[in-house]
Amino acid sequence: MWNSIAQEITRATKNPFDIQDRRSIGGGSINQAYRLSDGDRNYFVKLNRAAQYGMFEAEALGLKEIADSNTIRVPRPICWGTANGSAYIVMEYLPLGNSSRQAWYQMGQDLAAMHRVISDRGFGWQRDNTIGDTPQKNPWIEDWVTFYTEYRLRYQFQLANRRGHFPQQDALLAAIPSLLSGHDPEPSLVHGDLWSGNASVMADGTPVILDPATYYGDREVDLAMTEVFGGFPNAFYEGYQATYPLEDGYEIRKILYNLYHILNHFNLFGGGYGSQASSMCDRLLRYI
Ligand code: ADP
Repeated sequence: MWNSIAQEITRATKNPFDIQDRRSIGGGSINQAYRLSDGDRNYFVKLNRAAQYGMFEAEALGLKEIADSNTIRVPRPICWGTANGSAYIVMEYLPLGNSSRQAWYQMGQDLAAMHRVISDRGFGWQRDNTIGDTPQKNPWIEDWVTFYTEYRLRYQFQLANRRGHFPQQDALLAAIPSLLSGHDPEPSLVHGDLWSGNASVMADGTPVILDPATYYGDREVDLAMTEVFGGFPNAFYEGYQATYPLEDGYEIRKILYNLYHILNHFNLFGGGYGSQASSMCDRLLRYI
């Protein structure tokens, strides 16, 4: 398998690549990760079962879309495919680890610049992708309320009904037009899964985002997700607000947008995420 991957890197980069060193990298939640090196060039590789090829292809196309926007640093995808029963994605290896206030401020500015990239086809994306390893549907839809109701929350509720019961589900879905009334977001290029594990700073101080679940949606979904597991450093929000201020009502919409991720965590991991999702529904229903 490693020989095939090295050959694909050679083909994609038009530059002979021989693996001299292969190092396992921890930290990934879903895939096995490695750094490949020929002593000069380094690549970051993720492996999974061959059936997950589509997940890597979607990740590669998402990384490419963000990289092509020239707004925020992501690892450039190099090649992806299957070899010996495994699916793989190869991307630039980025040396990480030099967090500073300035870097997080710039992360906010760069993310805001990415959110200024607007689709002329509405909300959605060129293809479906995954959130964690749950399918994420991205048909092109003109109207954000419909997109978010049908292809984000209803989809996760349908999966969740197999493991738990959410009596507020119908009321909550029916309340979305009212919760989003007066809010008319543009279809921004979003990362889609921007928790703290997917944002980092390179050794040279450049902020970088990783592992996207890209689509065009309300930019607030990314800001909301940064707050799900503890929040980013304050400088990040200062940089974002200075560049592209958030609109009134974000604090309530944030709960609506994070419900998607909490339901997804319930679907992936079960446990206390079910009661967390339930109490988020209750809170939201008190606002209508
Ligand atoms: P998974 O899809 O399995 O969750 P991630 O894409 O989140 O894996 O990567 C796991 C970890 O590997 C990240 O938290 C980060 O520390 C590191 N990492 C990810 N991408 C790169 C890269 N291109 N270069 C260097 N390190 C990376």
